[in-house]
Amino acid sequence: MTDQPIAMVIHGGAGPLKSRDYSREVDHMRALIEAGRERLNAGAAALDVVVDTIVALEASGLYVAGRGASPNSDGLYELDASLMDGPTRRAGAVAALAGYASPITAARAVMEHTPHVLLAGNGAAAFAAARGLEAIADPAAWFTHAWRDPGKTAAELATGTVGCLALDRSGALAAGTSTGGVFGKMPGRVGDSPIPGAGVWADDAVAVSCTGAGEMFIRAAVAAQVAFRVRFGGETLARATDAALAEVKALNGDGGLIALTARGELVMPYNSAGMKRAALYPDGRIVSAVF
Ligand code: ASP
Repeated sequence: MTDQPIAMVIHGGAGPLKSRDYSREVDHMRALIEAGRERLNAGAAALDVVVDTIVALEASGLYVAGRGASPNSDGLYELDASLMDGPTRRAGAVAALAGYASPITAARAVMEHTPHVLLAGNGAAAFAAARGLEAIADPAAWFTHAWRDPGKTAAELATGTVGCLALDRSGALAAGTSTGGVFGKMPGRVGDSPIPGAGVWADDAVAVSCTGAGEMFIRAAVAAQVAFRVRFGGETLARATDAALAEVKALNGDGGLIALTARGELVMPYNSAGMKRAALYPDGRIVSAVF
């Protein structure tokens, strides 16, 4: 047994509607946190836990990522995802990837099997094909089309990104983010989610994953800003994340983020109506909530 704490955080997107019942999402996130706790306790690497958790979030169809993604203005699904490994700062990402079931798996492959950080569009798809990643044979059958549910509004569908952070027994942090982007986006539009420093970050001290109005998160460099406020500014995690979200607000954006330090401090702030989120704290406490 070591003194190194383990911890884990998930988000399932900002912008939920007060009128909806999110009990399925809350239960799902809690189950993923419990599964992650078992693995982290058994010595699993943060990077593996982050990827596997996001694969499950994508596959569930409960969030606006993976199977639950919403289409662009042409009716096509272009997905973004990113992954970052804290100790090495290796990163991998895909943007506007069409035709593949798990964007986070593609992001990991970019990190591990190319000299690059970010592959986009046709190049990303060609790479996914070359790696033999699972293709979507029939998009009409694959995607859950939650956006057609009359109970869902464009506002809600606009922000359903998923993210996961983990801190493992070796003290390593990892971060990942995956999204369908914003509902009705222009073809080729890429948000903050696949951009290290904007929608994702992990170094040896801090890990961050964001959700919300992606353009403003890019313009405020939210994920890097949080990490650098802590690293160079000596700010607490709570103060750093509040300040970064205040910059998003000043740009007329809303959303939220999850952030975790290598000491096991974690926060889940948002300035939207709510944020699907769940956490395992170092003392073993588990929280899963939307509002
Ligand atoms: N940040 C994402 C994007 O702009 C959207 C979201 O968080 O739901 O693509």
